[in-house]
Amino acid sequence: MWSTLITIFLTRLVFVNGFSYDNQTAWKKEHTKCKGNYQSPIRLDRKTAIIIGKVPEIAFLNYNTVIGGDRVDVLNNGNTIRISFDQVDNSKKPMVKDGPLGRDQFVMEDIHFHWGSFPTRGTEHKLDGVSYSLEAHLVHRNVKYESFEDAKGKENGIVVLAVPFKEKSEGVSTLSGVVNLLEKVKFTGNETTFHGNFVLDKMFYLKKEKLYFMYEGSLTTPVCDEKVLWIVYSKARCVLKSEMFKFRSLKRIDGEPLINNFRKPQKPNGRKVILVV
Ligand SMILES: [Zn+2]
Repeated sequence: MWSTLITIFLTRLVFVNGFSYDNQTAWKKEHTKCKGNYQSPIRLDRKTAIIIGKVPEIAFLNYNTVIGGDRVDVLNNGNTIRISFDQVDNSKKPMVKDGPLGRDQFVMEDIHFHWGSFPTRGTEHKLDGVSYSLEAHLVHRNVKYESFEDAKGKENGIVVLAVPFKEKSEGVSTLSGVVNLLEKVKFTGNETTFHGNFVLDKMFYLKKEKLYFMYEGSLTTPVCDEKVLWIVYSKARCVLKSEMFKFRSLKRIDGEPLINNFRKPQKPNGRKVILVV
């Protein structure tokens, strides 16, 4: 009974906040911020980026900490699969600092994914002109702001780490923990938790990773708040064809396949793009 009511509530919530990837030109009409000069995603090209070496390493706090999976929520909100950490103790919440982030600490808000209907379609950022199947976004907010809502659009408010995944027939995928849950969140409003323990870095292996693009942009969904620092890793990880099939079997609120949930590239408008090597 309760679960049915909650599902109805969530479905309405999603619907109220709804936007369509099919009609992205409407975003700019309905939300002025989506017309801004510093929008995301953009095309990232190593030939035109400013290359910088010797940048101190980003510190990943709690990325290797074992978190009880029952504290990690997974939701199909109609536009993506969202993994959230609201139920995780503050002492165990993943955070990033140092490197190009300066002294502030940024706590994990959520992880979500963007994907396409075939292997060369799905990532939001085009890397040297190439699109892959899937892009994960690890969204962090500055701890000096009380909430994500509070941090949005603020100076040093939000940092997103983006990780591309290339579709392969065989290989080693690190996303099986998420993929195994997708059947449980097939429909919009479905929610579940992780099984067993959750260790974030086993999904992304970011600690030793160099070679990332960095630029100032926005959230890639309405209302498109700017002042977001993007760190986009250039090396694509492996996602299996069979796993992408499961992502593509998810459903939107209207029952249609949840696919092609990526925003088209926005104008760079002279922005500096840095490549950290
Ligand atoms: Zn995103």
